[in-house]
Amino acid sequence: MLSSDRIAELRAQLRGELITPQDERYDATRKVYNAMIDRKPAAFAQCVDVADVMAAIRFARTHNVMVAIRGGGHNAGGLGVADDALVIDLAPMRYVHVDPASRTVRVGGGCRWADVDHATHAFGLAVPSGIVGTTGVGGLTLGGGLGHLTRKCGLTIDNLLAADMVLADGSFVVASAEQNSDLFWAIRGGGGNFGVVTSFLFRAHPVHTVCAGPMLWELEDAADIMKWYREFIVTAPEEINGFFMFMTVPPGPPFPEAFHLKKMCGIAWCSTASMEETGRILAPLRAYRPPAVEMVGPMPLPVLQSLFDGLYPPGLQWYWKADFFKELTDEAIEAHIQHGSQLPTWMSTMHLYAVNGAAHRVGPHETAWSYRDANWSEVIVGIDPDPANRDLISNWARAYFDALHPFGAGGAYVNFMMDEGEDRVRATYRDNYQRLAAVKAKYDPDNFFRVNQNIRPAAADSAHAS
Ligand SMILES: Cc1cc2nc3c(=O)[nH]c(=O)nc-3n(C[C@H](O)[C@H](O)[C@H](O)COP(=O)(O)OP(=O)(O)OC[C@H]3O[C@@H](n4cnc5c(N)ncnc54)[C@H](O)[C@@H]3O)c2cc1C
Repeated sequence: MLSSDRIAELRAQLRGELITPQDERYDATRKVYNAMIDRKPAAFAQCVDVADVMAAIRFARTHNVMVAIRGGGHNAGGLGVADDALVIDLAPMRYVHVDPASRTVRVGGGCRWADVDHATHAFGLAVPSGIVGTTGVGGLTLGGGLGHLTRKCGLTIDNLLAADMVLADGSFVVASAEQNSDLFWAIRGGGGNFGVVTSFLFRAHPVHTVCAGPMLWELEDAADIMKWYREFIVTAPEEINGFFMFMTVPPGPPFPEAFHLKKMCGIAWCSTASMEETGRILAPLRAYRPPAVEMVGPMPLPVLQSLFDGLYPPGLQWYWKADFFKELTDEAIEAHIQHGSQLPTWMSTMHLYAVNGAAHRVGPHETAWSYRDANWSEVIVGIDPDPANRDLISNWARAYFDALHPFGAGGAYVNFMMDEGEDRVRATYRDNYQRLAAVKAKYDPDNFFRVNQNIRPAAADSAHAS
């Protein structure tokens, strides 16, 4: 608890609001996307500008208060909040400035991807992001960013040009290829370990209307579809992206009623090629196994980017486990079918995102994001509105993960991990970990920013090793 004097001291330094447990908005403010997370921070500094972030950091340092940084609040492990912490809440910093001449986009640190899609689409442009519009730009970008445009445009970090940051000592820096290039290397995959990003500068691409949507098949076709998909997606034209999934057909339109609540497998496509060209690319699949349900058609990119938003509103129970895969063997496919066909609730799912095409043109040491040699990022997600089903969805996800992990590449995408401990973080960064730890020691030697997938500063790290 912060004393009333301390609260008054910080409040006087902020232009944004300071929300404390005494405030009637406190309980609503402390909620994050995953309803399993129930943390009670000391206060939320709702920062409206860089000066607010500096003030909050200096206050926390002076009074030895732990900080958490919240972008969009979507982290499944709840890493945007922590008990007793001062939360640097970037929610008010939701501006997007598009420069159509240079095809660059300046994005406030608290934006959601739907904010960016809305602003860029008016100019026929897009920044590669994920697949859900309510996800925060901050966390998704700093962890890497996998989505519908990965194969054509690379990860989100491959399109990051610069970041404005406030460091652990409260100072302001720019990280880019020209300025603080070591920091720029580290934030492209290293998460919120190095400072608060108050704004991102992205390269945008001319993407307006895409040919997209799911194809679904009966579960008995799942092995054949997975085998077809594993061959196809590693060499497919980069215009096309598709992620494989096990899912239950949602009980409502636009899905045909006969399939409602039926467990199926599918591929969610997004093609930037024309309808005609996309049809030509997908013709062999349609001939091989005609989908039982097909909803592929032209749509504005922001429509695709928000297709899941209504299906997965904030406030559900989420538990997920993840791994990278270089290959998908027949044995791995058997394990997928065994567990993927047993989805414990209709919202639960498993997605295999392609990590190739343009994402493979960046080397494993060019950014902190190590797994450029993986072909898939798997995420197994137990989801349900009812807290009573918490164990059901978590146990299913863990058992599925345990069955597949022996076939994996070793690490997992940080943005698809819960709080799983240091070994998992190290496995994710492989031989980039030591360099990350050195950058951490330079910019945050006291591990001030530690509510994240934590990279320990190099000195502390060697002490730990000895
Ligand atoms: C429904 C859903 C769909 C998703 N889909 C995708 C997807 O398609 N592709 C994908 O790659 N990921 C996806 N994710 C994962 C997502 O990238 C992570 O959950 C990410 O952490 C969310 O970022 P956030 O800013 O919303 O989270 P928060 O909970 O606010 O923050 C997460 C972490 O990032 C840090 N952070 C956030 N903003 C900043 C900032 N401005 N400066 C410094 N540190 C910051 C926080 O300190 C924290 O450690 C999805 C998640 C959900 C729940």
